[in-house]
Amino acid sequence: MTQVPNVHAAEPIPDAAREAIDALMASGDLFRYTASQDAPVALLEQEFAELLGSKYALAVSSCSAALFLSLKALDLPRDARVLIPGFTFAAVPSAVVHAGCTPILCEVDDTYRINLADFEAKLGQDIAAVLISHMRGHTSDMDAILALCEARDIPVLEDAAHSLGTTWNTRNIGTLGCIGCFSFQSYKMINAGEGGILITDDADLVARAVIMSGAYEHNWQKHKGPRGDNSADLAQAFAKWQNQLPLYNLRMSNLSAAVIRPQLPELMRRVRDGRVNHDYVAERLNSSPALHVPPPLGPEVRAPDSIQFNLVDMSAQEVEAFAAATEARGVKVQIFGLSRDNARAFWNWQFLADLPELPQTRAMLMKACDVRLPVRLKQAELDVIADILLAAAAEATNRAAA
Ligand SMILES: *Cc1c(COP(=O)(O)O)cnc(C)c1O
Repeated sequence: MTQVPNVHAAEPIPDAAREAIDALMASGDLFRYTASQDAPVALLEQEFAELLGSKYALAVSSCSAALFLSLKALDLPRDARVLIPGFTFAAVPSAVVHAGCTPILCEVDDTYRINLADFEAKLGQDIAAVLISHMRGHTSDMDAILALCEARDIPVLEDAAHSLGTTWNTRNIGTLGCIGCFSFQSYKMINAGEGGILITDDADLVARAVIMSGAYEHNWQKHKGPRGDNSADLAQAFAKWQNQLPLYNLRMSNLSAAVIRPQLPELMRRVRDGRVNHDYVAERLNSSPALHVPPPLGPEVRAPDSIQFNLVDMSAQEVEAFAAATEARGVKVQIFGLSRDNARAFWNWQFLADLPELPQTRAMLMKACDVRLPVRLKQAELDVIADILLAAAAEATNRAAA
């Protein structure tokens, strides 16, 4: 029998990274602003912007830093109300708090997507900005969200940390709102251990973010427009904001960029493999009457590296039996609402001044399961995981798969 695969091990970093890292080791040139041009971080920004189809990119220390800078770039008043989904990673409300704003949570459906009725109702309650977190890469209905926000002139930021490679109506997630933020933390599609990047077409927003990220004095001159060109819009924006903004120093090191750049050409392959793997396991799980994987929305082509599914009509006892049966067989299933101190369960965000109750989101979290499916897994390994989940569901509920 094939062993249960290790779902936490990463894919090796492409060999091409070695040469760039050796060169950095030899020169000691790790700071992005030392070289007069073509520092690895600057090249990464150009390549990433081009890959996603946006004008500007700014690489920083994490996606959380990118979210924080995006909010600061919007120049919102203190305590501005920022609408976010009630199902996301704790780093998202944290970035809002860090930016001096107040997170307002809206309900999320058992499809893991924003509940539009609650979203629309809360949008009318003095919301200054919307931060859509595409949690686990599940895209909410962006057509509806953008239309509602546009009608009220409310800016939309995208937390696309887990959506690199996902498209919506063939457009890349992260390019739909005014700024998109991505993560290079190890559990994301591109792995640098830590790191993040934001993209935008707005020269003023990127200029503000660049300066606040730590481009002190005239280091902003090393930030260019599309294809590395000197952009007049950008130069004007930098001149406008010179000395006007605090420096938070959230820069990326050249070493991180050297690890990330050779992974960019791998992205499309990883996205394709991840989707094929996910859809294969989803179809197998959906053969059980006790398990349900919500389908993607029509305009959405996903880029998953994990799978989420709901436990269908299980009693609390059956849920517990399912969790125990999977664990006994060697697959760790995270039920978001049941794992203690889970950072994705809103009731654990007790750092928020006003922690609301979200009954729908809570009900979803109590039956939503999460299993990592690294894109490197082969079909035999996927079968081991699917077999275990199906056997555990049958054992816990006495309902066999079709
Ligand atoms: C990983 C993740 C983050 C945080 O990214 P970091 O780079 O670790 O700060 C934020 N939002 C979502 C949806 C994520 O998956």
